[in-house]
Amino acid sequence: MIGGKEGTTGGNPDRMLHPDEARAIVLASARPLAAELVPLREAAWRVLAEDVYSPEPQPPFAAATMDGFAVVAEDASPWREILGDQTAGFVLPIEVSDGYAVRITTGAPIPAGANAVVKVEETEAADDHVIIHQEQVAPGENIRQIGSDLAKGELVLPAGTTLGPAELGLAASVGLDPVAVVRRPRVSVMSTGDELVDPGMPVGPGQIRDSNRFSLIAALTQAGAEIIWAGRAPDRAPDLRAHLEHLLETSDVVVTSGGVSMGELDLVKPLLSELATVHFRRVFMKPGKPLNFATTDRAIVFGLPGNPVSALVSFETFIRPALRSMAGCIDIDRPRVPVHLGAGTPPSDRIEMQRAVVSVDTDGRLIGTTTGSQASSRLASFRGANALLVIPPRELAFEAGEMVEAMLLAPPLGPDIPGIDREGRRATHTVGRS
Ligand code: AMP
Ligand code: MG
Repeated sequence: MIGGKEGTTGGNPDRMLHPDEARAIVLASARPLAAELVPLREAAWRVLAEDVYSPEPQPPFAAATMDGFAVVAEDASPWREILGDQTAGFVLPIEVSDGYAVRITTGAPIPAGANAVVKVEETEAADDHVIIHQEQVAPGENIRQIGSDLAKGELVLPAGTTLGPAELGLAASVGLDPVAVVRRPRVSVMSTGDELVDPGMPVGPGQIRDSNRFSLIAALTQAGAEIIWAGRAPDRAPDLRAHLEHLLETSDVVVTSGGVSMGELDLVKPLLSELATVHFRRVFMKPGKPLNFATTDRAIVFGLPGNPVSALVSFETFIRPALRSMAGCIDIDRPRVPVHLGAGTPPSDRIEMQRAVVSVDTDGRLIGTTTGSQASSRLASFRGANALLVIPPRELAFEAGEMVEAMLLAPPLGPDIPGIDREGRRATHTVGRS
């Protein structure tokens, strides 16, 4: 953690930082957490804490890749006496030589003396013998050789790998159980604001439903965090202080929403200055300018602005990479790709993060088109978006076709295919019809 009351920005946390500078400060505080041993069956989507090597060759014995007959490839006579049945899971104590064959199933060990498997479709078996119809049998045919999948001592999975289907299966195939994974960051999420009510409750005059906690919970889940449900706090300093003090003691990361702007009741900002070391409060970014970042000796704190879009854009830009770094991931960032703007956009005085759909056109070019009004209160602008376009500040408006960078939140959509309309495909994806 970063120490020292003056923080990292040389004593002035109000200096407006470029997002890259802010990100570097955040990542310097987001070191990987300790490792823990977990049963392999509970390790899906966790992050490996150590390199994994193959302790033995894979497969550990030469095995048939087809059902058929194990033979000596060079043996010229079509007629062979069947010596026995070699199925998977044991070793037949037998030696194959010219004039003989062993009936064998996929995955079974190749009997001694045999050097090829003729697949069953190329043979005709009767009682005690088999006729091989295939004219030429190559040595090694239909055999998976020792170590052909993994060599002994090979690096199978480097530390920092996320254990998805292939990775968890590979860990199992090299016998890794239990497995050392990085502890998941414990993240508490608290919203602040006297106007907020919970989604199941009726809204009174002047009230709105608290949506940020729920957006953040989905975002945190996807980022691999362990979530501490910290509820809501009113805009009253004593309550907020008690909540925050408790969260700072029990979490690795505290995420709050609201209360960091310039208003009289924006109380999170002054409280963070009292309870933690504030490193910065303002980022040269739109939306998401008033992001507060602070640390204590055991936790890091993100004070997000309350506007739903600002909160999520700040999450994507700073919190997600920080959590992935704490979780020990090799890849902490969303992929970034150059795209052509689908439409012109007015100039901005800050780096603007526009919610957009990136798709491939029929010429194979990536096109980024914004999702309508980019007001920071309009959470619907995130719905269906698969990217954030990074629009740099400049004086001139951007024209359609100009290149900008896109941070991909999900893969680009494919080109329109005749007979299948994109909206239909998207609806199928998002609604999950089967
Ligand atoms: P604040 O950052 O507290 O000044 O809030 C900025 C705007 O975001 C205000 O319009 C708030 O009503 C709204 N807001 C704050 N917190 C939430 C929340 N948890 N869910 C939805 N909107 C919120
Ligand atoms: Mg507020």
